[in-house]
Amino acid sequence: TTTPIKVAVTGAAGNIGYSLLFRIASGALFGPEQPVELRLLEITPALKALEGVVMELDDSAFPTLAGVQIGDDPNTVFDGVNHALLVGARPRGPGMERGDLLEANGGIFAPQGKALNDHAADDVKVTVTGNPANTNALIAQSNAPDIPASRFSALTRLDHNRAIAQLAAKTGATVADIKKMTIWGNHSATQYPDLFHAEVKGQNAAQLVNDQEWLEGTYIPTVAKRGAAIIDARGASSAASAASATIDHARDWQLGTADGDWVSMAVPSDGSYGVPEGLISSFPVTISGGEWSIVQGLDIDDFSRGKIDASVKELEDERETVKKLGLL
Ligand code: NDP
Repeated sequence: TTTPIKVAVTGAAGNIGYSLLFRIASGALFGPEQPVELRLLEITPALKALEGVVMELDDSAFPTLAGVQIGDDPNTVFDGVNHALLVGARPRGPGMERGDLLEANGGIFAPQGKALNDHAADDVKVTVTGNPANTNALIAQSNAPDIPASRFSALTRLDHNRAIAQLAAKTGATVADIKKMTIWGNHSATQYPDLFHAEVKGQNAAQLVNDQEWLEGTYIPTVAKRGAAIIDARGASSAASAASATIDHARDWQLGTADGDWVSMAVPSDGSYGVPEGLISSFPVTISGGEWSIVQGLDIDDFSRGKIDASVKELEDERETVKKLGLL
């Protein structure tokens, strides 16, 4: 029999968790032949709700689900995990400043980084979905000195998928026709979806669209503000698509990207494209053998340069704030 892959999910009783766990357990993450074991972390008051979710997992009788453990101590829950999907985070409350938000999340992601450092499997891969995702990932990474920095990432795959969907709608193509989409920078309103390297049926997307006004005035803001549009329509946040993107991200990291394509992932910068080293910023990456590499040699024009620099500047400011708080 195949050894189960151990997958930790934090904030497992939340909205994203409610969609994510069933996808993982049903084989959507690593395929129908690969058993998975779930390790679910919650804060103490949410453990009862989590027990209810586990009852539903039991009742789904998923053949690929090899076991479930739950708890409120990351040192126990993260023991031996191969993937850690860090979804639980502190949402911004009324009147909360950005510094307060970063501090509250530091109280979550610093101890989780330490627990991963001390207890996770040697091959652990960490994906941060909980916001502010890039800086939460940076906090976890810098509290895990024994894990290679390259094993820490933040999710920009939902932005990537939204960017593909909007481009498909504009060009009348299918999402499968679109390759080489890139989200650069921070998972925030400053993110930059780049059409200058994307392709629609092999044709350059920016040239095909040939409408800078649409790009700046409609496309970029629609992608960046999609979360708010969904809250407005549904009265609740976009949890199912966030869960689906988390699956896409972790699956491709484990199994690799397709030939002739790449994906967007926020990963520690090596200085590529002028992004300061160590910042966890979104790049185009290819993945093979469980290791990502940043796509090199893309031409960045002045428009793109300005957009990337603005988002990276925001990440530098966030890093400065958490450094001052002693979280790095
Ligand atoms: P969700 O499951 O809806 O969201 C969880 C996190 O994912 C939030 O930080 C949210 O950011 C982020 N996120 C990223 N992309 C999206 C997206 N497209 N749409 C919505 N959210 C997105 O939150 P819930 O409040 O339902 O659940 C959070 C759970 O986490 C709770 O059960 C709580 O108890 C738990 N928690 C667990 C911790 C732990 O395990 N130690 C620590 C803290 C919380 P944003 O806020 O910006 O929407």
